[in-house]
Amino acid sequence: MRIPFLNLTLQNQALKQEITSVINTVLVEGPLVGGDYVRTFEKKFADYHGVKHCIATGNGTDSLFAAMKMLGIGAGDEVITPAWSWISTSETISLTGAKPVFADVDGNSCTLSIQDVEQKITKNTKAILAVNLYGQCCNMAVLQKICSEHKIKLIEDCAQAHGAKQHGKMAGTFSDIASFSFYPTKNLGAIGDAGCLLTHDDAFAIKLRRFVNHGGLSKDEHVFEGMNSRMDSIQAAVLNVKLTHLKEWNTRRRAIAYQYIESLSGLNTIQSSQTLQGNEHVFHLFVIQSSKRDLLKKYLLDHGIETMLHYPKALPFEPAYHNRAYKAEDFPVSSRLQNEVLSLPCHPFLTDDEVAYICAVIRKFEAT
Ligand SMILES: *Cc1c(COP(=O)(O)O)cnc(C)c1O
Repeated sequence: MRIPFLNLTLQNQALKQEITSVINTVLVEGPLVGGDYVRTFEKKFADYHGVKHCIATGNGTDSLFAAMKMLGIGAGDEVITPAWSWISTSETISLTGAKPVFADVDGNSCTLSIQDVEQKITKNTKAILAVNLYGQCCNMAVLQKICSEHKIKLIEDCAQAHGAKQHGKMAGTFSDIASFSFYPTKNLGAIGDAGCLLTHDDAFAIKLRRFVNHGGLSKDEHVFEGMNSRMDSIQAAVLNVKLTHLKEWNTRRRAIAYQYIESLSGLNTIQSSQTLQGNEHVFHLFVIQSSKRDLLKKYLLDHGIETMLHYPKALPFEPAYHNRAYKAEDFPVSSRLQNEVLSLPCHPFLTDDEVAYICAVIRKFEAT
């Protein structure tokens, strides 16, 4: 058997008629950027979350940057963010002129360590940028409490958590501002780059909308300097189609994850990632931890199974941050995770048989 890590062709094939039909309509009717398809998507995505405003953007990285710029974050400020994440979260903090302050994560769930967040708060801290990693929320109730006590902002990065919940409340609804990415591989993915922001706040929504469109709500108005980060109509039209499938796809991802968890339980050298209490996980990634990770990765590949590392290196140890001279002891959990995590194939079109085969190969590895 050969099992690729991800197969987006299967998803696009399943929706081929609907997708080609909306693309054709956009090509014939236009506009190609903005317009009704984008407005419709914003409305649907906001309603899906029960949030007042959705602002479509060009991608998830721009969304984070726009959010922080419009919160007034800049030089002299600090923003706390996980050491264990994708680089968008820390690079956008730096792009505003502020300093990313890395906090370690909890080794079981791989989400922000509350204890480390608390230790990293200083008088310069302006916000916590929490990442709902792999498909589950951080401990949001506690983060909300910390933020209100210290009068700092809470920003949620939901790029990996479309449709996730905590105690029945949706990811993206816990914070002052939530950012999403619709990069094609995400749980809800476009057919190119796209992103958005969610907020309850009317005035803030207008500011954000202006910022991602050169400071104006129309072409001929520039109230302040902004940027160009808008959503293409084709992406919005495709997202409108795909949004109706998000729930069923997440349910399938969860079923796959439970099959893995059950089948791999009891193995000595392998630990499945844990779900925090009260979380409805959407398994953007299914990540195991193993002290023999590199050997296991090779063994799986030799048996036709493609895996990935999320992530090969914790952010503080990336060359981009070498000037800060961090040591492994500064982030003990992230330092361990970079040697032990392994992402197994987990997407809605993976079959039970494929999951069973992957588990069988892992069991065989453990027996060698
Ligand atoms: C994918 C991702 C982003 C960035 O999204 P883009 O649309 O690729 O810019 C940000 N944060 C996290 C955690 C991600 O996984």
